[in-house]
Amino acid sequence: MYLKEIQMDNFKSFKGKMNVPLIEGYTAITGPNGSGKSNLSDAILFVLGPRSSKAIRAGRLTDLIFNGGKDGSPSQFTKVSLVFNNEDRLLPIDCDIVKLTRHVKRNRTAKADYTSSFYVNEKKSSLGDFDSILSHAKISADGYNLVQQGDITRIVEMGSKERRGILDDIAGISRFDADIESAEKDKTEAEDNLDRIGIILGELRNQIKQLEKDRAGALKYREQKEKLELAKAQQEFKRKESLENEITGLQTEVAKRDGDIAKLGEKKDAMKEELIGIIKELEAAEKEIEEKSSAEAAELRKNIDTLKVEVARCQDSIENSKSTIDEVKAQKKQRMGDAKKLEKELEGLKDQSTDAKKKHKIASADLEKARKEFETAEKKLTS
Ligand code: ATP
Ligand code: MG
Repeated sequence: MYLKEIQMDNFKSFKGKMNVPLIEGYTAITGPNGSGKSNLSDAILFVLGPRSSKAIRAGRLTDLIFNGGKDGSPSQFTKVSLVFNNEDRLLPIDCDIVKLTRHVKRNRTAKADYTSSFYVNEKKSSLGDFDSILSHAKISADGYNLVQQGDITRIVEMGSKERRGILDDIAGISRFDADIESAEKDKTEAEDNLDRIGIILGELRNQIKQLEKDRAGALKYREQKEKLELAKAQQEFKRKESLENEITGLQTEVAKRDGDIAKLGEKKDAMKEELIGIIKELEAAEKEIEEKSSAEAAELRKNIDTLKVEVARCQDSIENSKSTIDEVKAQKKQRMGDAKKLEKELEGLKDQSTDAKKKHKIASADLEKARKEFETAEKKLTS
């Protein structure tokens, strides 16, 4: 690979287009002072060192654009292309000729005062691509393969330590020094990180201890909760059984009350008949009184009074029976209401019972055990 040609557009002192062909091997460019010889090496560095500070003898990139000289008008852009012979494929592009171009344009309106762009074989490219092509071919604007005006004098005149630095640089030792320095930095950072990790680890260990405590508490809670659920299920089951018994008892009582009502009804009818008979007797007696004399009448009146007392007693008895019937009816109504309520509750409990049955199954083993214990205790108690 070698540099075949430098193509410039408005670069520094070169107005318009200027192509400088270079022959493989050795090319010398001569000219009077200020004729632009160093500007040519600036053109090479402008393309090769997009990130290099050493590269160009200019304060700002826009200083590289042709400024119009003494009385011409300044250009708005500059463009430099380096044309390489790449037959040996040292540049990682599969072409015999590779053209690397850099373009800088003045920007009057935008915030930045220039726009810089890159092209590889006339195709727009990024600064990153440019960098990677150049570093792949080991071309750098900072390297000592480019010796600029004044470099030799500077090296000759510099102190031995500084010169040693240059030799280290060329031999690649400085790179190792830089590597060692960066490794030391990494090591310190890693040590700092290790300290931080140690602290975090300590905190995590404390957290783990606390979490273990919490876990033990949670497990105990779960165990107690399960026990509670089992006890509740057993309680519900018992309650269901006792409600069923209560309903059966109430139904028996209602049937008994119905029997009582029927009996009292019969008694009432019998009393009514008795009353009718007495009234008839009374009427007959009154008739007889009218017919018989006063002495006899007095005797009869006495009998009538006795009978009236008897009637009043019978009526009282009827009234009592009536109120007893009412009372029994009210009780029956209330019991019926109770029974309905209990039936509803039973419905609810039946649903719960399905659930409870499941739990009951689990509980039944315990229950069986408890029952046995209870029986043993009961036997003991009995003896
Ligand atoms: P010497 O032999 O003294 O080293 P040289 O041939 O290397 O000289 P250069 O330094 O390449 O000369 O060129 C300097 C000339 O370039 C100066 O005359 C300067 O005015 C001119 N110059 C520098 N920048 C620009 C620019 N942006 N536009 C126009 N001319 C410029
Ligand atoms: Mg010069």
